[in-house]
This record gives sequence, C-alpha cells and structure tokens, in this order.
Amino acid sequence: MTSSELASDAAQPVPEVDVLIVGAGMTGINQLYRLLEEGFTVAVLEAGRGVGGTWFWNRYPGSRFDSESYTYGFLFSEELFDEWVWSEHFAGQPEIERYVNHVVDKFDLRRHITFGVRVTAAVWDEASDTWVVTTDDGATHRARYLIAATGVLSVPYMPDVPGLADFRGESHHTGRWPTDPLDFTGTRVAIVGTSSSGVQVLPTVAPDAASVTVYQRTANWCTPLNNSPITDAEQAQLRADFAQLKQILDTSPHGFHHTPVERSAFDDTDEERQAFFDQVWNSAGFRKLTSNYSDVVLDPAANELWCEFIAAKVRSIVHDPVTAEKLIPTDHRYAQKRPPFVAGYYEAFNLPNVELVDLRATPMVRVTEHGIETTDGEREFDVIVWATGFDFGTGALMRLGVRGVAGRALCEHWADGPRTWAGVQTAGFPNFFFPGGPHAAAGNNPRYNSDQVELVIDVLRHAREHGSERIELDPDAEARWTSMVDRGAEGSAFGSDNYYFGSNIPGKPHRLLLNAAGRPKLLKTFAEARENGFAPFHFS
Ligand SMILES: Cc1cc2nc3c(=O)[nH]c(=O)nc-3n(C[C@H](O)[C@H](O)[C@H](O)COP(=O)(O)OP(=O)(O)OC[C@H]3O[C@@H](n4cnc5c(N)ncnc54)[C@H](O)[C@@H]3O)c2cc1C
Repeated sequence: MTSSELASDAAQPVPEVDVLIVGAGMTGINQLYRLLEEGFTVAVLEAGRGVGGTWFWNRYPGSRFDSESYTYGFLFSEELFDEWVWSEHFAGQPEIERYVNHVVDKFDLRRHITFGVRVTAAVWDEASDTWVVTTDDGATHRARYLIAATGVLSVPYMPDVPGLADFRGESHHTGRWPTDPLDFTGTRVAIVGTSSSGVQVLPTVAPDAASVTVYQRTANWCTPLNNSPITDAEQAQLRADFAQLKQILDTSPHGFHHTPVERSAFDDTDEERQAFFDQVWNSAGFRKLTSNYSDVVLDPAANELWCEFIAAKVRSIVHDPVTAEKLIPTDHRYAQKRPPFVAGYYEAFNLPNVELVDLRATPMVRVTEHGIETTDGEREFDVIVWATGFDFGTGALMRLGVRGVAGRALCEHWADGPRTWAGVQTAGFPNFFFPGGPHAAAGNNPRYNSDQVELVIDVLRHAREHGSERIELDPDAEARWTSMVDRGAEGSAFGSDNYYFGSNIPGKPHRLLLNAAGRPKLLKTFAEARENGFAPFHFS
C-alpha cells in the first residue's frame, strides 16, 4: 500500500513511522539518531539536497563557525568526537558540511532521510491521533509524532526593494548560496548588509574582486574571531578531556566551555581595565561576551566602557576617519544585537577597491539592470550579495502549514507571536514538538537544542511506557512559559529593536523570540518536568 493510500484510508489509518522529523540540520540529525537509539521508527523530510541545514544553505564565501568547532559538534558519541579532527578552532562551512555528512554516514542515518521535499501541510487527524503530512511533490505521510526541526535561521529575508528581478548579473542571498562556487576574480561586487554574514563575506572576496561596495544600514559591534589551527597537542588534550568537556557543555549557561569572570568593570583601575579589555579583544569568539566583565552585558555604564574600547580600536584600524565613524554603532549597545566576529573586516576598508555606502544617509531606491541605485546615484555590479538576514525564530514553523485540534492553524495560534512551553511544544497541537525553535535559550545552539531533543525523547519514552498515543500540552504551562519570556524582554540584554524581536520583518509581531532567562531556566524546567512525571503534558 502506498503512503497516499494509507493516508486516505480513513477507516484504518496506520502510521508509517512513529516519528516524522522535518529538517536534517544539526537538531534533526541529533533527534533522528537518538530516536533510533531508543527504538522508534523514524523518517526525515528535508527541503535541501543534502544534510547540515544552516551549513548546507549558507555556503557563501567566508561562512564559518563563531562557536568553537568541538563544542558545536554532536556529543552523543565519544568515538565520533575522538575520530573527527577539526582543522581549526572555528571551522569553515565546507569542513562543517563534511562533518555532518560524515556523521550521517557513520551512523547509517542517510537512508532515513528524503531530500529535496518541502513540507507544505501538516494536519492533525483527531480520529487516529496521528499527523498527516503533505510535501510539495504531492506525497502524503502519516506519523504518530511530528517533530519540526526546521531551525530558527532557515528562512532568508529579502528586503522588498523595487527592481529586484531586473538585475542581470549574479544575485544571491547568503542563506541560499549556490552549490557551484562563484569566482569573484575581477568582478564588481555589492554586499548588502553588515551583520554576521556580510562581515564574513567582505574580507574573503575583497582581495580578488575588482571592487566591493558595502551597503550598510546599521553598523555592528564587530570584534576579532581570533581563529587558529588546532595543533596535534590540543587535539590530544581535547580527546583526553572529553568527559569533562561534555559535562561542562551539557550544563554551562550558554553552552560554551568559557570561564566566566566574576569581576565588575568598576572593580579595576582604568589601566587594569584597558589591559583586561585588550586581553578580551585578543580572546577567541564568544568569550567577548562570556568571559568579559560580569556586568558588561547588562549594566549600561559597563557596556559603554567596552563600546568605547571597541570604537577606539575601529578608529585605530580604519585609516579614513569618515569611514571609521560610519562603522561605529550609535543606535545600540554591545550585545543588544548578535555581535559578529570578524577576521580582517575593518582592515578591508583600507583597501583601495572597497567602499562603504551608508544607507541611512543615502537610502536604496531600486535595483537596476546593472546595479543598485541609491539617492546619490547608481553603481554598477556583476554580483550582488544579499546578506540581509532571516525571518528569525518562527519563520519556518509559520510556513509549515500546521493545523492542530479542530483544524486550528499554528499561524492563527501564534498570530501575536509564538506561544510555547520551553520552546518545544504549543497547546492545541498534540504530538507536535519543535526542538531548536523559538523561546528556548541563547548561546551555543546545538547544546540547548540537544537539551530539547533529550526532553522529547524522555516524553515519548514516557508515553510509550504508559501506553499513551496522545501527548498534549497544558495551556496553563504554555501561558506561564510565554509570559515568562515576554516579561524577560523588559530590560533584557537583547535591546528591543532587532531580529530577536522580529523587527527586521515588516508586519511581524514585536515579541521577544528568545528566552532571556536562558539555558539555566530551560534546564531547571526540564529537570522539574522529569521529576514530576511530565506534569505540563496530558497523556492519553
Ligand atoms: C551563517 C550562520 C552561522 C551560524 N553560526 C553559528 C555558530 O557559530 N554557533 C551557533 O551556535 N549557531 C550558529 N548559527 C545558528 C544555526 O542555525 C544553529 O547553530 C544550527 O545550525 C541550527 O540547526 P537546526 O537543525 O535547528 O536548524 P537548521 O540548520 O536551520 O536546519 C533546519 C532544516 O529544516 C529544513 N526545513 C525547514 N522548513 C522545511 C520544510 N517546510 N520542509 C522541509 N524541510 C524544511 C531546512 O531546509 C533546514 O535544512 C548560525 C546560523 C547561520 C545562518
């Protein structure tokens, strides 16, 4: 019997698999591996032609980790950790994609995944307590549980600029970069956007391109990534320390292995502070947040000192004082937006072929056949790189076509913003989970996404042990978590006007999409749920 016959046979709707996962990124693969280990039958549907999610789609020049490679990878197998040798502390996209493929092949996971199919509808079938899922190739699947591992940064955002279709050259969003590499040699390049992706593209393409014009709407607080190769001795030490490292990564507040600093910025003298900030500037990756002064993120006065330090660095690196001033943010504090980490970004503006266009001063008017027109005229290009971000948090889930009890659409239920318990389930949508979704935490994603993956495993195991076929979230649990997230928006480190709140997407409700109480709150909530027999859920 085919899957569509199964789906249309209302008298005897038999689930094809216990669990259907949407998405073969880090979260989907982790969930797949763990479900198989626990004896569930599983199938995965993935829109892309390969595994990796973020690391499949974001293959733009300069794409790389901001999390230390070995803290980002899967931790479910020590053998995997031992055998995979990362070349750098912050690996680049090709290596990350190779790693995810290696994992999928090593554990024979590929045969469970169907590639190149996009889920367009997922409808709850009350009569059989199953999900009926439709894909864009017309196929229908039925499963007891539906797990959307569809990512928070998987729907690219293109600004609505007139004339987008008129451009005759190459035009690509960083989040949908073509699989055939682009040769930038001798080309005239435009980069639109200067957050985490745009700042990685510039120094990578500038040496080869004839010219690069960077279109900036908002300057960001960029600090050096300080990447380096992993030496043999470091690799040996990592292997020896696996158990300890895993223990730290499984429990640390941000999912990193960085040591927090207990000192306030005001405990030190000016000289001591300058020396400490220099040390932080020279440290690797997210340590600028996690191993900075304890008050640098939350206390505006401490934050200002760190911002002044970064601004002085920018002025000392960028030769042209007008360009330097434009590159220094004036509208947000450090960490109110996700801070980018860079290698040679500010230095690139000293190259004779690199120009900065301030879109606040000269807004974009239209894309033309040959380039981009701003209020100060048209510039011609061969390539336009759109580094314009994503519909963060809810973008992919809102496009899944999910309908729960009584046909209620998820889009309707979340019309004013997401409503979740622990960023993993929502009321009125039984047997539907979304690890890696909005409202969970912030930091090194795979670590708190793994916390959610493990919670899902425990809930499904609990249901199996108790003979339950329907798992439903208590609306009160959803209300409590959602109002906790909303309350956290007030005075949080995340500011109030950026993609964490959906502000980059016209018409999107202004709601915090992250949980400001972070991973400690998530882990505590999961521990309580395990102790109280998963009280936030009704099992039947
Ligand atoms: C450029 C970039 C760099 C990043 N760097 C870091 C970093 O250094 N550290 C960090 O912690 N985080 C980083 N992130 C965040 C990153 O998204 C997460 O770390 C992680 O990859 C999320 O994994 P995921 O599996 O939850 O989602 P994704 O990797 O986004 O995977 C979701 C998958 O679901 C698929 N999908 C979505 N909708 C459908 C549908 N309807 N039908 C079928 N398939 C669908 C997508 O095609 C995608 O493959 C970065 C993000 C970006 C964009």
